[in-house]
Amino acid sequence: MHIDVVTIFPDFFRSPLQTSILARAQQAGLVTIQIHDLRTFTEDKHRVVDDYPYGGGPGMVMKAQPFLAATETLRADSADGTPVIFFTPQGRPLTQQRVCEFSEYQHLILLCGHYEGVDERARQAVVTEEVSIGDYVLTGGEPAALVLIDALVRLVPGVLGNESSTESESFAKGLLEHPHYTRPAELDGMRVPEVLLSGHHEQIRRWRRKHSLRRTLTRRPELLRTAELTEEDHKLLAEIKQQPQKEPQEPTQASGDI
Ligand code: SAM
Repeated sequence: MHIDVVTIFPDFFRSPLQTSILARAQQAGLVTIQIHDLRTFTEDKHRVVDDYPYGGGPGMVMKAQPFLAATETLRADSADGTPVIFFTPQGRPLTQQRVCEFSEYQHLILLCGHYEGVDERARQAVVTEEVSIGDYVLTGGEPAALVLIDALVRLVPGVLGNESSTESESFAKGLLEHPHYTRPAELDGMRVPEVLLSGHHEQIRRWRRKHSLRRTLTRRPELLRTAELTEEDHKLLAEIKQQPQKEPQEPTQASGDI
């Protein structure tokens, strides 16, 4: 996978891309990420990327021309259909499903906005997808681009040590993931649920599924409407509804219930 990012703040990406899994994925050649300074695509000697809004009002607007030039250059050797993603709070919300869809592409171009946003004609001419990372307003598209890059890279085969670890994760199958524990088995009077210490694989699987369902029911009940639920899931949900437990105290109760 190759990701091109167009930004007026290339330095923003330096540390995150040189850290942890993102760094290792690049070192292993599983993904290449190139950061491009939008100013190098300007046509004037002062390399101006913004201007006053027509119609007046506060703030500046990013000019369309540098984005058009950048996209034309970066798409030159690319297959037709390469997504050109612009980050904006007005875009479609980013979900795990959308990240999975983007991960099918070999090449993505990410455009980061600033100020009041970008001249609408750039959006019309080159942008194929508008992505929002949530209903709040950032100062620029760079944090949003990093969020997408991080979520994408961990789906590239070979990037995570344990390939199965993405499969049971939150959202992968429409549910939130079950709680996790590690040593020690007792901490300040809080015990790890006995079933997790039992070594009984089937009971552990059932406990995890039940707590995944419980978490989803209590924190994000709307996800249950679209999750693929088995007959066992429906039985577990019925049990959960009869034995309500309060979250987040749930870990301290640490009952061995399965
Ligand atoms: N005036 C714009 C509006 O009201 O929709 C907001 C512009 S914001 C201050 C500047 C840039 O930050 C946007 O062009 C976009 O690239 C990025 N941005 C801000 N919030 C975002 C979000 N929730 N998701 C993705 N990008 C965002």
